[in-house]
Parts: sequence; C-alpha cells; structure tokens
Amino acid sequence: MHTENFLVIGSEGQLGTEITASLRLRHGVDQVIAADLGPANPELHEAGPYVSLNVTDAKTLGEILDKYKISQVYHLAALLSVTGEKNPQLAWHVNMDGLLNVLEACRVRPAVSKVFFPSSIAVFGPHTPGIATPQFTAADPATIYGITKLAGEHLCEWYFRKYGLDVRSLRYPGIVSYKAMPGGGTTDYAIDIYRHALTEGKYTCYLGPDSRMPMMYMPDTLKATFDLMDADASKLSIRSAYNIAGFSFTPAEIAASIQANMPGFKIGYAPDFRQQIADSWPDSIDDSLARADWGWKPDYNLDAMTVDMLANLAELLPLKA
Ligand code: NAD
Repeated sequence: MHTENFLVIGSEGQLGTEITASLRLRHGVDQVIAADLGPANPELHEAGPYVSLNVTDAKTLGEILDKYKISQVYHLAALLSVTGEKNPQLAWHVNMDGLLNVLEACRVRPAVSKVFFPSSIAVFGPHTPGIATPQFTAADPATIYGITKLAGEHLCEWYFRKYGLDVRSLRYPGIVSYKAMPGGGTTDYAIDIYRHALTEGKYTCYLGPDSRMPMMYMPDTLKATFDLMDADASKLSIRSAYNIAGFSFTPAEIAASIQANMPGFKIGYAPDFRQQIADSWPDSIDDSLARADWGWKPDYNLDAMTVDMLANLAELLPLKA
C-alpha cells in the first residue's frame, strides 16, 4: 500500500499541536513531520520527527519536502489578527510569501497530492452581511490578517484551476481549545475566560458583553479539517475556502455558561482595540455548502464545550483555592 507522509508547517501553534498529534494517531508517528520556527514544544517533538523551518525560506522547504517524501502538506503557519496588526509587514511576508512558497513547492513536486490551507472569518468585513454570512458575499477585510487570508484563498483557487494542485481550505471561526495557548487572535478571550475562571474565579473581557462571533470547539475543528481532506475531490465545489460554522456566542453568554458550572464566577468588561476587529466580523456563518458537499455537521454546542473545557483545564491548571 502507498504510504502517505505529512508535513505540518506551524506545528507549535494552537492548531498545529493538535493537527500533528491527530495525524500521528491516524497515520503513524514517523509519517508526520512537524515543522516550526524553533524547538519550543518538547512534548510534541519527543512524540515524533521535527524540523526547524521558516516557511519564507523556499529552498529549505523544498529540501524538506524531498527528504521526507512528503505527500500532504498542512500549511498552518501565519501571523494572526492581533499579532498581524502589530507587525503588518511581517504578517504580509509570512502569510503571503509563505503560502506562495508552499503552493509553488507543491506544484512542482508530483509526489505532493494535497495541501491544506486554513482561511478565516477575518476575510469578511464591515460590508459583509453579518447574520448567516453566505459563502459568496462582500468581503472587505478590516485587518492585514484578513487581507492576506482573502488573497490566500484566491491564490489557492488559482493554483487549483491553473495547475490542478489539490488545495483545500476552510474559513475557520474562532477556535477554542485547552492544549496549546492561542496565538494572538481576536477570539482568544473565549479560551482565556475558562483559564481565568479556574485559576482566579473572575475574568475581565477585552470585548463588550454583546459581541457575538462564530466559534468552534477543537474536536469539531479537527473533524471538519480531516473530513474535508478525506473527501472525494469530485464532491468539492469550493476551491477557495469553505464557510464552516460551529456555534456563535457573546462574552455574556459564555460567562453564563461558565456560571452554570461555577456559580461564583465573575465577569467584567474593558473593551480595547480588539473590539473594532470583532465588530467587523460576522455574528454567524452559513455553512450549508460544507454540509451539502462533504457532510459537515458539528457535534458541540456552547454548554457541551464549557463542560469539556472546564473538566480538561481543571487537570492542567493550578486551581483557585
Ligand atoms: P498560532 O499562532 O497558535 O500558531 C502559528 C504557528 O506558526 C506558531 O507556532 C508559529 O511559530 C508558526 N510560525 C509563524 N511564522 C512562521 C514561519 N515564518 N515559518 C514557520 N512557522 C511559523 O496559530 P493557530 O491558532 O494555530 O492558527 C493556525 C492557522 O489557522 C493559521 O493560519 C491561522 O490563520 C488559522 N486560523 C486560526 C484560527 C484560531 O482561532 N486559532 C481561526 C481562523 C484561522
């Protein structure tokens, strides 16, 4: 049987940590090469092969693809919305030049059969209809991050149409998880709030109470990603990036969900510059094409996620006395 070899670029991050671990469970430890800027996650590296890679370095990327006979690339490395606003030149360089390097390196290597590129709800902007945002709609991103993701989606689609490169992509909403820390996104509060609830019993949110945003729990994110990558190519009608949704909530609603489990938990609000970014993003997403094309359906809602997050974080964190 033909063995698949995987490269996960950005393997240290919130997504990369879990995608690498899941791919290793599915395909074998040695079949999955983790790649990131530097060795910062010993737990992950001890678990399997790791290479140091700056994705803006096309030569080293090509050498790694050849050396490990890579057949599928998960290209996750990026600067996110908040980090990108602080360093827009670097965000453009990593997010655009990095993606172009990946697509080009994969195009010229017939051994590479599939590429995954995560897009984001950050492609949407103030003129996008905010409720049940359609797949095809106004997209006027307000951040450098969203601009790179929108251009990235189109670049992926162009590589598919022009060269037949099998690139697949999802517009992830805010992703909530407990294993790795989030990497500087506008939706990070939905992770911080659980950590603070357990360690301090209170949290001050950098968004106002009614800021509704689309979110997804990590197990659903992994399911969506692998279902898309496993889908028969003939089923995929979208080659830019699929709208994908879990559920939407506000800071007040997640606080209430925590209070149902921890009645003493207190929430305060001190909106900062991130409020503007949040306001430019949709409240909810229409993901009917993902459902119709490859059978997408999330398993978690807000309360099921809260129960699972609190139980898992309670084992990892020093709890409030
Ligand atoms: P993260 O910030 O936690 O991780 C990104 C990783 O990329 C980091 O480990 C970083 O060291 C690495 N990296 C940065 N520059 C690099 C470079 N030049 N070369 C190699 N590696 C580099 O981000 P994440 O949350 O894991 O996001 C992964 C992907 O998913 C990103 O493309 C992001 O835009 C997308 N996404 C994430 C979310 C979310 O809520 N986490 C939502 C939408 C889309």
